[in-house]
Amino acid sequence: MNKKINILVIEDDKNICSYITTILSANSYHVTAALTGKEGLSLAASLCPDVILLDLGLPDMDGCEVLHQLRVWNRMPIIVVSARVLEADKVAALDMGADDYITKPFSNAELMARIRTSLRHSHGNPQDRIYKALDLEINFEKRIITLNHRQIHLTQVEYQLLSLLAGNSGRVLTYRYIMSTIWGPYIDNNNQILRVNMANIRRKIEKNPAQPQYVFTEIGVGYRMLENEYESTL
Ligand code: CA
Repeated sequence: MNKKINILVIEDDKNICSYITTILSANSYHVTAALTGKEGLSLAASLCPDVILLDLGLPDMDGCEVLHQLRVWNRMPIIVVSARVLEADKVAALDMGADDYITKPFSNAELMARIRTSLRHSHGNPQDRIYKALDLEINFEKRIITLNHRQIHLTQVEYQLLSLLAGNSGRVLTYRYIMSTIWGPYIDNNNQILRVNMANIRRKIEKNPAQPQYVFTEIGVGYRMLENEYESTL
């Protein structure tokens, strides 16, 4: 028998929440529900669900802000569930890294199909939880970074920046993409704040910050992090 797939539902409407929970439980998924954005973010970090269903209209914070914060470290499928029907909202959610979008009201079949599709894209790979290369290890679940088994302390922004790169290891991420992911879409194009944070990270993790082993500069483009060993062996 297969291990149960964990789904986190972040939805403040109790009726819709219990409707979704009933459908998913009946289809053998394990469901956890959060009624606020804050609760959702903390459950996402502690449970590492296989799929997240995220309502955009939440009482404590905008769903797009939740999506944005999740995507800093989390690569698991996020399906936005919302009553909002504007194209611009869908595009904004997808631009921010949502995998798919489902508009209320939706049918059971539609919901199940979206979840199956998202699961096919990615789930359960170790690189979702652990980054490891050379002497560096990042446990995304516990938010712990070790170098040679010794814990490294980063500021919150440094951690977000490093975990964003680690979660996309092997790929170049543009300055613009990184800036908007960490500081929000309205940050100006001045990369100074990014360079300062990267210099601080390199001082903490690189033997020789001028010749980095972990985070490489792609001049004029962005940064690329050394590929996750788990990813390259899968
Ligand atoms: Ca709502």
